[in-house]
Amino acid sequence: MKPFRNRLTLIMMILIGLSMLGAGLAMANVFKSSHIELQEENMVREIRLIQATMEFPPLTKEQAVSYYTEKSMQFETLAGARVTFIQKDGTVIGDSESDPTSMDNHAEREEMLQAEIEGVGRTIRYSSTLGEDMIYVAIPVEQGSFDGYIRLAMSLSEVDESVRQGWVVMGWGLVVLFIIAAFVSYRVAASLTSPLEKITSVARRITRQDFDARVQLNRKDEIGQLSLAINAMADSLQTQLKTIRDNEDLLQSVLNNMTGGIVMFSNDGTIALVNRAAEEMLGVKADYVTGKSYRELRQHYELTKLIEEGLEHRTNFREERSLYFPVESIVRLDGVTMMQDDGSYRGMLFLLQDVTDIRRLEGMRSEFVANVSHELKTPLAAVKGFAETLLGGVEDEKTSRSFLQIIYDESERLNRLIRDILELSKIESKRIATEYSPIHLSTFFESLIEFMKPAADKKQISLLTQVPEELFMEGDEDKLRQIFTNLLSNAINYTQEGGRVQLIVREKQVKEHGDTVEFIVQDSGIGIPKKDLPRIFERFYRVNKSRSRSSGGTGLGLSIVKHLVDLHHGSIKVESELGLGSSFIIELPLLQEND
Ligand code: ADP
Repeated sequence: MKPFRNRLTLIMMILIGLSMLGAGLAMANVFKSSHIELQEENMVREIRLIQATMEFPPLTKEQAVSYYTEKSMQFETLAGARVTFIQKDGTVIGDSESDPTSMDNHAEREEMLQAEIEGVGRTIRYSSTLGEDMIYVAIPVEQGSFDGYIRLAMSLSEVDESVRQGWVVMGWGLVVLFIIAAFVSYRVAASLTSPLEKITSVARRITRQDFDARVQLNRKDEIGQLSLAINAMADSLQTQLKTIRDNEDLLQSVLNNMTGGIVMFSNDGTIALVNRAAEEMLGVKADYVTGKSYRELRQHYELTKLIEEGLEHRTNFREERSLYFPVESIVRLDGVTMMQDDGSYRGMLFLLQDVTDIRRLEGMRSEFVANVSHELKTPLAAVKGFAETLLGGVEDEKTSRSFLQIIYDESERLNRLIRDILELSKIESKRIATEYSPIHLSTFFESLIEFMKPAADKKQISLLTQVPEELFMEGDEDKLRQIFTNLLSNAINYTQEGGRVQLIVREKQVKEHGDTVEFIVQDSGIGIPKKDLPRIFERFYRVNKSRSRSSGGTGLGLSIVKHLVDLHHGSIKVESELGLGSSFIIELPLLQEND
């Protein structure tokens, strides 16, 4: 788990162990030699004691051997060492361990030679007599009849024994010391490696993209520097990553909030990117199709073919195609080849633009132009025809007056048509400003009814109103007048003589959106067939063309009404029963929100 720490501990332990062993060995040596030295000193003193206490009487050779042998044995028990008496010429005359007569000449023994020269001879050597290592100490003695050497010998095994005991004590000491050293070196190794381990773990966390990880070390040394460097690296990574993420977010939000669809294909034809608009247009999920082949879009057969060609030919193009899924739409496709910086082909980018509304508007516009021309042509043809007839000469004044009347009526009609067309196009192109002001509804409708009355009276139609006295609402007065003039004149127009037209106004409490005002224009007229109800607000749509024409209608009135109601953020609907009458119900907000 922590190999470096363990290795470091091991190395330290080995070093400590070796040096302790070396020290132990050296100590043992010192101990041994000082012990031997001490022993030798003792032996010297003992020889001096022997010399001082012993008598050396004059003896014959035989007597001498027995005398000295006896003495040597006595002293051996006192001194605990082998005692030997040797004459100057090397002849042994007394020995506590063996028979001196059987012993060879000792003149050449090392201790003898040394004693002769230095006064004290000491040596350690193997005794062939005793068969072990011995310490020998010899001193020349010239006293009484004795002229020779007294020599003490001691087995080294005693020294070895005490050295061994010393070793045991020291060994235990070493073991205790070693344990302490092990503990200390482990701690030292830990203190050395634990900051490194901390740094390593932080570096690992950074690798795992945890950029909040920081090394918490307060040190001034190289390790402190290293941790500062790691922290600085993490800081820089964090800010860089944030920049990258911010850029990515920005790009992503640009892509996702674009109204145009974007689909990107890699050079192998796999889908690399689909933005939200493209998801909606194509009815696919980006998560699902990304990374898959362009063939995943096979529901859009024509589109897939285009993509296939684009990927194959690597040329830019602009085409329009119909999609039938998820909704029917027309899409303009811009295929753009993408190149890498090094000029190699990277793939294709497709921009998708939903042009359904544009195309539909275009269609409506040309239809409108056709309708307008048609509507204009009829009165113009009448004017032209009757004018020609008059120019050709008409005798009868009555006839020519009626022709002139027709010309007048038709040009009036043309005038109304052109006025309505201009009005409508103004509203549709939003070139019209609304000016809201508080309107006192009962006053407003009073003057409006005043204005409509002659037309109603002409057909003996009773015009009834039901408007709350104190009701005010916010609205554009001119436009409201236009709305209700249109609705009331329609009601009068499409109601038989003696019928009834009613206007009801009431306030309605609507919880969510604030209060509204409801207007109902009700007549007892001819009514509108069920099948025509949905189309009645279309431009130039008329249930009965000739009837509308004879009543001076242009087919644009309700269309204008619908637009003006929309401008007021209101709604309009129609209910009708054929032969019984129609009701147009308008709901407008009491107050206009500022927009
Ligand atoms: P117009 O100028 O022909 O009246 P509008 O747009 O005002 O055109 O109305 C469209 C058509 O709706 C009319 O031609 C008529 O057929 C029908 N219509 C409108 N108002 C009424 C009504 N109150 N009763 C019956 N039909 C109506």
